[in-house]
Amino acid sequence: MSLRQLSSNSVFFRRIVVLLIGALLLSALLTGIIYNIASNIIFANIKEKEYTNRASTIAEITAQRYLGNMSPVIYDNIMAKTPDLVEATVIVNMYRENDFSASYQSTQDPKSPEDLLEIQEIITKYNYNVMNRKVTSFQEKLGEDKEAYLFVGYPIIAVDPFSQNRSTIGSVYILSSMADIRGNNTNLTFALILASSLAFLLVLTPLLLAVQKLLAPLIETKNVAQAMSRGDFSQRAQAKSQDEIGDLAKAVNDLADDLDRTLNNLMLERNRLEQILNGLSEGILAVNTEFTLMHINPALLALFSVEDKSNEAAFAEIVEVCDLKEPIQRVMILREGETKNLKFRSRSITIKIDRLNDNKGNVYGAVALFRDTTEADQLEQTRRDYVSNVSHELRTPLTAVRGLVEPLADGIVKREEDRVRYYNIILQETMRLSRLIDDMMTLSRLQAGTVSVEPQIIDAADLLDGLSYKYKKSMESHGITFVNLTAGKSLPDLYMNEDRLEQILVILLDNAMKYTPENGTISLDLTPHASAADRWQFSVRDTGVGIAPEDQDFIFDRFYKVDKSRGRGEGTGLGLSIARELCEQTGETIWVRSKPGEGSTFFFTVRIYREGNKHE
Ligand code: ADP
Repeated sequence: MSLRQLSSNSVFFRRIVVLLIGALLLSALLTGIIYNIASNIIFANIKEKEYTNRASTIAEITAQRYLGNMSPVIYDNIMAKTPDLVEATVIVNMYRENDFSASYQSTQDPKSPEDLLEIQEIITKYNYNVMNRKVTSFQEKLGEDKEAYLFVGYPIIAVDPFSQNRSTIGSVYILSSMADIRGNNTNLTFALILASSLAFLLVLTPLLLAVQKLLAPLIETKNVAQAMSRGDFSQRAQAKSQDEIGDLAKAVNDLADDLDRTLNNLMLERNRLEQILNGLSEGILAVNTEFTLMHINPALLALFSVEDKSNEAAFAEIVEVCDLKEPIQRVMILREGETKNLKFRSRSITIKIDRLNDNKGNVYGAVALFRDTTEADQLEQTRRDYVSNVSHELRTPLTAVRGLVEPLADGIVKREEDRVRYYNIILQETMRLSRLIDDMMTLSRLQAGTVSVEPQIIDAADLLDGLSYKYKKSMESHGITFVNLTAGKSLPDLYMNEDRLEQILVILLDNAMKYTPENGTISLDLTPHASAADRWQFSVRDTGVGIAPEDQDFIFDRFYKVDKSRGRGEGTGLGLSIARELCEQTGETIWVRSKPGEGSTFFFTVRIYREGNKHE
């Protein structure tokens, strides 16, 4: 990121820059102030020394003049030059007036007589020290402006050439305003400011670059954090620097990794759960405590035929149809699950409602499980019917047998021919019982899948000839004509399990015989199927009693008998259900066409053998 971008994008960067510039400016200002104070003291000291030296020279010259070693003209000339030499005001006060009378009050800048008077007054204050031969310096305010002045006083000492006695004969004062002294420093101060400004400008660019370098990983880290808050966990910050910012970037990167991983796991878990829920055959509905839909699965939409609606609309409709709002709210408040049964378009539905709790046991919603119990209910009903049918079918012959055996056992039946008649009936009932049990066994074996339905190549003509031979005679004995319509026709090879095929034909032929009175005709045929090219169809046609249309739908059900009195009374009600089961297991279809009083024709399909059948 460039400096320009940084300064426009990063508030932190701007703050640091302002802070640094502020610190630099403040330090420059403080340097100036401190320099100003210190330089005043230092320059005053320097001037003090300088004035002391000058004053000492003037005192020496004055002493020479006093001793008469110097001509007044030279002395006066020198003294006239002193202010320019010293660049200050020079005042010479003589206390003995024997040799030269006047004191010099030589000023660099013209001073008013009032000022000179004031100067003399100040000097008088400090003169005691000077007279005691001590070099004295001090600062005093002077003039109307009360300007500070630096004074340096120096004693003038004369040494008597004969006696070598030293005597203080006067004093030299050099004074200069502090403003003038300082004025000499202005250039230096200016140079200082210029130097510090230049230094500041030179430092500024590398400083900004350093700040930029320092902040870059921080800004990157911030960007990563912001991306994370938007749900983007793919970004990472550079965590190269070995400092707190580097540590922060590393921590944020680790956090992004962890969150990414956790989120992925959660998503996987969620998808898996969703797949499981969507794959369930039961309907699922979940709502939160505000009764807003959280989940609804396809099975539930299908159960209520609302697949074409939006989830919310479907949810609203299901809640209304099942009147679910109250029970669900009750479950959320009372903590106890509820079960509800209802009928929807002739289907039985059981709804089980339970609370959804979080880790702390607080309710956060409810889930309702919808189970279509129609088939289970029907199965249960069928099972019950089956048991009662079986019991009934078993009881009938058993009751008959018992009714005959009891009088025989009691010896009540005395006549031999009655006993024989009784034994015959017992034999018939026992045979009926045994047939019933055989049929039940066959059906249950078929349903259990233990009967082989492996297809074989069957020579249709052979099979039909065999069956015709078997049935022709027994039918004739009942006065029925049997016709094999396939005789002489060219038939294809069939592809089906031969035993199962024969079983079906036997059931149909037996039934035809049972329900066809004397002088009737039963015909057997095999013709090509009307619509399926790979199939032909068998038909067993009789001119018997026929089946009423309302019964035709049920004759293939177990134990269904139309009317016992109409047949020869030996049926079990299981023959056609076995035939249908056999057809279903071999992949074929069976159906009937019948008119009461005119006869019935039973049809079933059969696959014909073709090259490659075996590999299908
Ligand atoms: P059943 O052993 O009693 O014949 P099925 O299952 O074979 O039992 O037949 C069921 C019912 O269908 C019979 O009770 C009978 O009323 C009717 N049925 C079957 N075949 C014929 C047919 N060829 N003609 C008239 N009714 C028939």
